[in-house]
Amino acid sequence: MKTGRQFLQIPGPTNVPDRVLRAIDQPTIDHRGPEFAELTHRVLPGLKKVFKCEGPVIVFPSSGSGSWEAALVNTLSAGDKILMVETGQFAILWREIAKSLGLVVEFLPGDWRRGVNAEKIATRLAADSDREIKAVAVVHNETSTGVTSHIAPVRAALDDENHPALLLVDVISSLGSIDYRHDEWGVDVTIGGSQKGLMLPPGLGFNAVSERALDASKTASLPRSYWDWNAVVESNRTGFFPYTPATNLLYGLDVALDMLFEEGLDNVFSRHTRLAEATRRAVAAWGLENVSLDRSEHSSSLTAVLMPEGHDADALRQVILERYDMPLGTGLGKVKGKVFRIGHLGWFNELMLAGTLSGVEMGLKAAGVPFQPGGVQVALDWLVDN
Ligand code: PLP
Repeated sequence: MKTGRQFLQIPGPTNVPDRVLRAIDQPTIDHRGPEFAELTHRVLPGLKKVFKCEGPVIVFPSSGSGSWEAALVNTLSAGDKILMVETGQFAILWREIAKSLGLVVEFLPGDWRRGVNAEKIATRLAADSDREIKAVAVVHNETSTGVTSHIAPVRAALDDENHPALLLVDVISSLGSIDYRHDEWGVDVTIGGSQKGLMLPPGLGFNAVSERALDASKTASLPRSYWDWNAVVESNRTGFFPYTPATNLLYGLDVALDMLFEEGLDNVFSRHTRLAEATRRAVAAWGLENVSLDRSEHSSSLTAVLMPEGHDADALRQVILERYDMPLGTGLGKVKGKVFRIGHLGWFNELMLAGTLSGVEMGLKAAGVPFQPGGVQVALDWLVDN
């Protein structure tokens, strides 16, 4: 018998605030009626503030993977070349979607411990004299490794080469947690989801699109119907959607956006930065290693931790779940069993972090993993002083 609230410390879906839950728990309204149009006209401008863009943000009733697919099918044609970067498992999953759609993927290899290397992208773009590469696609915050890539240098690589490829960026686990600037960084399609920094349940996918991306959608010929941006943009003008939207999730989105703006986006980002730093200090004090190697790329939304040699991360996760009712993120793809991930994003505060780190420290002891006790105290002391 479990008592008290579960600590859901996976890096998304995240804990949904009570205010958002209450907003979702309302009678569903007519999605073709005037009340719904008012809701649309509130949430779409709010989303633009979060993506930091002036152009449209398209909302799909989908998981993040749907919005990945939407970004590709609206901008590209069969046989187009796309340059992607192996930051981790999510980059691989996106690559697989691109391949299955008939795109020709060039995948810049990576070691899963560092972010996107803009110099390597620049070198590849410079060699592309026939301008065969139609898009460059990167994951901003790689959720399998806890590494956040710098996006502005990727834009600079395209600009320096005067390369016309579109820039597509996945912010599924950074949106609303880590500073991100769609317009300023010259991104053409930004791909988001509801279930992480936006503090909502899973079920909404987002594409923020530039003018160039909208233009590309006029000639892109990959088959699309449900994912067609133009139908959504057209319908959104009057406050509606071309098909039944996820009405109750949009109620939740309305309140989640209010919460982000009441706190202030910059404060939201610095809260994440601070709680992430405290987490990393605990991890280091335990004598464990962060997957992310470069300090400037450490993620503020999650920390991926390497297990000591010979110890299984999933066995530790199981002990922590059974004893303390706290799910942690599993290692994905090639790091399965070697890595566990602590989510510290979304609706989250110092005492939730204290509970989270306590659960990990108790779990390390209970599971017989070699570690230095005292990481929790190190984090708490740091939080008091910073
Ligand atoms: N991209 C990133 C960075 C993610 O973290 C995830 C999911 O965790 C996805 C894409 C896929 O999203 P979904 O599982 O909602 O389809």
